[in-house]
Amino acid sequence: MKNSYDVIVVGGGPSGSMAAKMAAEGGVSVCMLEKDRDIGYPVRCGEAVGELGLKQFVEIKDSWIAASITHFGLVAPDETRVEAKFTNQKGFILHRRLFDYDLAQEAANAGAEVFTKSYVNGLLIENGFVRGVTLDYLGEPRTIRAKIVIGADGVESRVGRWAGIRTQVKMKDIETCVQYSVANIDLDINRIVFYVGRCYAPGGYLWVFPKGERSANIGLGIAGHLAKEKSPKKYLDEFLQREYPGASILTTMCGGVPCAKPMEKPVADGILLVGDAAHHVNAMTGGGIISGMKAGWIGGQVAATAVHSGDSSAKFLQTYVQKVRKDFGDTHNRFYRMKNTIINLTDDDLNAIARQISRIPENERTLTRIFKACVFKKPSLIVDVIKVFAGI
Ligand SMILES: Cc1cc2nc3c(=O)[nH]c(=O)nc-3n(C[C@H](O)[C@H](O)[C@H](O)COP(=O)(O)OP(=O)(O)OC[C@H]3O[C@@H](n4cnc5c(N)ncnc54)[C@H](O)[C@@H]3O)c2cc1C
Repeated sequence: MKNSYDVIVVGGGPSGSMAAKMAAEGGVSVCMLEKDRDIGYPVRCGEAVGELGLKQFVEIKDSWIAASITHFGLVAPDETRVEAKFTNQKGFILHRRLFDYDLAQEAANAGAEVFTKSYVNGLLIENGFVRGVTLDYLGEPRTIRAKIVIGADGVESRVGRWAGIRTQVKMKDIETCVQYSVANIDLDINRIVFYVGRCYAPGGYLWVFPKGERSANIGLGIAGHLAKEKSPKKYLDEFLQREYPGASILTTMCGGVPCAKPMEKPVADGILLVGDAAHHVNAMTGGGIISGMKAGWIGGQVAATAVHSGDSSAKFLQTYVQKVRKDFGDTHNRFYRMKNTIINLTDDDLNAIARQISRIPENERTLTRIFKACVFKKPSLIVDVIKVFAGI
């Protein structure tokens, strides 16, 4: 580990690895610091991604794919089930342990130096500019200087806060999640299933994502302000007991997802934030792998350009903010507004929507038609739904 790099990336998740790779490919020296012992572990994720999203950045490896998803099911509070087929792409449930590891390897192959057991505990700030980080590396205190720091330190990000960036998320916009990896269950390996409604997960949803012939990630997220009334774990235990009484729980994980608007200003002098650290999550689904990778992709490129031009000011880094806004930020703002409408649907509304959708012949149940059925129940969604589908 050297004492100085052009770019330091804090966090070795998908956003961090993407940022490190792109910065290194931009011809600057890069180091990526991960606090855990292994890249990719522990996994705190349902591990679902869309094929098209992933293909933008990487050649998909078979070893990453636990299950290929062609169908999805939606279960309403009154147990009305809606089944549909993905029409224009398939989805995957990943082995994130392997996926994250390989992404970090790609960053390393591009020239980034990767260090694990490197816990960043502060920023070096000179005249208001971030100029590096302080860390605990294998138990030893270290200081590393940099022209730009990229904060990719996830939902619990502190790097942004240390730089004076407003990082707070309202309680109602944090999904409090719990997930079990379970075995010994019967399920369709090509189908993901969502359970919606207050009885399953108030202010969120419950998911069953297949991970193998007889195993799955089963988890749920509850809006933070509702999680005090009854814990997410209690909801999940009740569900498991009811639906999969013979399941063995192999792993338990808890975590938060920032289902908020993307941060408006994820930059300050000498620093930019990517991924969960900048709230780059689709607030409707809680999915953040692809948008985090996209932010890392853009952020790494902009960081390299900033180093070459000798300007790492917040003003220069505004290019990053604009590019993210144009790429997915505006759409994520719409998802956020849609989430706020959907979250207020009553169980009766959800039952009515499910029944409406189940009237559409199964082979005609495209996402667009499903959204149309939602809009029928909640006309206030219409403008955002149209804009999302029109890509504007
Ligand atoms: C229960 C659950 C289910 C989810 N399911 C899905 C899903 O199915 N699909 C989907 O797309 N998204 C899902 N998400 C969200 C997804 O996991 C995140 O959006 C994604 O991991 C964001 O990537 P990231 O690189 O920004 O952050 P992370 O993957 O969280 O990576 C951040 C990294 O930074 C490291 N770090 C943190 N602090 C420091 C520090 N001080 N020093 C050094 N390193 C540090 C962490 O150890 C971590 O490795 C889920 C999240 C949860 C909690």
